[in-house]
Amino acid sequence: MTYADIIVDISHETIDRTFQYRIPEDLQASVKIGTKVNIPFGNRKEMTGYIVGLSSMPKIEESRIRDIIGVVPQGISIDSRMLELAAWIKTNYGGTMNEALKTVLPVKKSIRPQLKTEIALACTEERAKEVLEESRKKHYVAKARLIAELLETNVLPKELVSSKLNISAATISALEKQGILEVRSEKIDRNKSYAADENGEKVNLNDEQEAACSAVINDLKEGKRETYLVFGVTGSGKTEVYMEIIDHVVKNGKQVIVLIPEIALTFQTVLRFTKRFGDRVAFFNSKLSEGERYDQYLKAKEGSIDIMIGPRSALFTPFENPGLIVIDEEHEGAYKSEGVPKYHAREVAEQICRMTGASLVLGSATPSLESFRRAETGEYKLLKLTKRAKEAELPEVEIVDLREELKNKNRTIFSLELVRLMDDRLQKKEQIMLFLNRRGYSGFVSCRSCGEAIKCPHCSVSLTQHRDGHLRCHYCGYETIMPKKCPSCGSPYIAAFGTGTQKIEEQVKKLFPSARVLRMDADTTKNKESYEKILSSFANEEADILIGTQMIVKGHDFPHVTLVGILAADLSLHATDYRAAEKTFQLLAQAAGRAGRASLKGNVIIQTYRPDHYAITTAAEQDYISFYEQEVLFRKSLCYPPMGHIMAVLFSGKNDADCGASLRRVTAKIIDKFAGLVDNKELVSMGPAPAGISKINDLYRYVVYFKAQKYSLLTDICAEIDEYRDEIKAAGIICQIDLDPMIGY
Ligand code: ADP
Ligand code: ZN
Ligand code: ZN
Repeated sequence: MTYADIIVDISHETIDRTFQYRIPEDLQASVKIGTKVNIPFGNRKEMTGYIVGLSSMPKIEESRIRDIIGVVPQGISIDSRMLELAAWIKTNYGGTMNEALKTVLPVKKSIRPQLKTEIALACTEERAKEVLEESRKKHYVAKARLIAELLETNVLPKELVSSKLNISAATISALEKQGILEVRSEKIDRNKSYAADENGEKVNLNDEQEAACSAVINDLKEGKRETYLVFGVTGSGKTEVYMEIIDHVVKNGKQVIVLIPEIALTFQTVLRFTKRFGDRVAFFNSKLSEGERYDQYLKAKEGSIDIMIGPRSALFTPFENPGLIVIDEEHEGAYKSEGVPKYHAREVAEQICRMTGASLVLGSATPSLESFRRAETGEYKLLKLTKRAKEAELPEVEIVDLREELKNKNRTIFSLELVRLMDDRLQKKEQIMLFLNRRGYSGFVSCRSCGEAIKCPHCSVSLTQHRDGHLRCHYCGYETIMPKKCPSCGSPYIAAFGTGTQKIEEQVKKLFPSARVLRMDADTTKNKESYEKILSSFANEEADILIGTQMIVKGHDFPHVTLVGILAADLSLHATDYRAAEKTFQLLAQAAGRAGRASLKGNVIIQTYRPDHYAITTAAEQDYISFYEQEVLFRKSLCYPPMGHIMAVLFSGKNDADCGASLRRVTAKIIDKFAGLVDNKELVSMGPAPAGISKINDLYRYVVYFKAQKYSLLTDICAEIDEYRDEIKAAGIICQIDLDPMIGY
């Protein structure tokens, strides 16, 4: 390799463009991807840059290529750590170096001074308590909620009050006029704002929590770097365990990254961490603008915070000396990137830990098969929390066989037992959650004569019917009116099939006309605010019943919910990927965990057509281990992760035939290259074939799968595909690689 592609001083230049330089003979042994070097650039004699690619061929005329001056001594900066990480991501997930760099580097934006607006209590506690009482009596829930929070913390950031607490500007200004609170804007003063609340949230850890904490802290004291899996039932106090360990790490002068699925990063979570760690903690979510995000990164880089909490991308926080990464709800699909490169946050976190010597703590009530498998083989240390922290009992779960209901002439969505319990809870003024893992008014529309479903002409997925009667595609948004006749056979007997959240809402209103009902699904939560609004409204007990899709089951704590109804538990078993049973188990176990979180006893009804499927029976018993044991056998028999590895290579292009032909050609070349391994079955290929969703946005999709015991074999294939990248791109085809995919293609 005699030439290097270099990104010039990445803190100033855009990362999209690389420049080629020659590597002088005497440097060839000392440079690699990620090396920081000095180079001449434009009129400037010397600048620093990073090597992001190596090649043996000049891309421009030889005479115009300049020489690298030398390697920068002690070039290990945060940026070069990120570069090394980018190189690792590229090797392990495929794709280009530029895509990998974009993943690990924060967006470059100029930094402007930022004002922080806060809301503070402006009267005596007594007065505030009076107004609180008064507001409660008059059912001014928003007012009461704000005052109650202020009584606890004194000062709250404005953005939290309006977004997470869902308090309107009118309410704030009314209370300001009354002299209860003041709104103040100031330049960020990091030392003053929210000091940690010394005697605030800290609880006395129970024995199990204590044991988990000291297992990790003792290792840290001995300088041992490990990965831990905190396997604790919902409500067992995992968050308290994380905070205790974090406290130890921070006190030792190191920094901590905490990953939480965005959907679970609620006001309560923010408050808990703020109370314990004050202004040394920063939060991060996708609502932040690029500029705001950059400010957060800068704070981390400057060392003015110790803890960064956020979703997946918070992993790339440029801390000087990270000592710990925590991944809460580690089984969540959201930890796998949907964009390219399709990296998994858990694997990348492990790599960061290997590079920096940090420890990794994973936590879940329903661990991913991957993590539990590693705990089983001893690669991870398993820490168990078997009891709920607050004396709450686990709910009573009952499986209802829908086939029996039909035999008994009950044609509604609700089993008799569910209706009986709903009635009971409404009378007791307790809350109910109804869960359906599907969206839309009523599922797909199909023909009773020929059986064909009406599909989107652009995406080949079934269209779903909405309340206005229109049919809509959930991939591309295509919309059309309900046809009078079947487009395939002309029969007039076409109808909507199945059940959606809207239909459930209608039926609930028919059954219980006086119940107050909220619905939460992709249609009612187009923007983030409406999502928060529905949740806080339900938390404020402004509704009796919350109907929703997956989004209602995750991470929320509603103490007054004592009944959870899962309407058609087996729907997610029909998904087309190998994780269908795992996803079903997780959803059901999490949904069941929603009931009876406080002192009230909870009930869960699981309605299903497959009452004997192991994912359903084990979820009903909250028996993760039994589920795991059966599922692992299935994965093993087919060499699926974690008992093997699988890679999807997806080609999409405008021309159907070209796209398929191109993938077939590349597949043939790969099989040829790895013929020996294919022959002795170390490498197995499936396809190429049109993808399950064979067209999205008018792009045709073809997929081929490779399976192998050894992950490195699959990354070798990634590297091989790189050889054809230019050719593929020139043909107008997009190539995506997904290793150990979380979704079906
Ligand atoms: P998880 O993260 O496992 O779902 P949390 O950490 O959120 O559990 O704890 C659930 C609830 O129990 C919280 O309200 C928390 O404050 C409380 N809790 C946790 N540990 C204890 C403890 N040792 N004593 C009293 N309450 C606790
Ligand atoms: Zn038909
Ligand atoms: Zn479509």
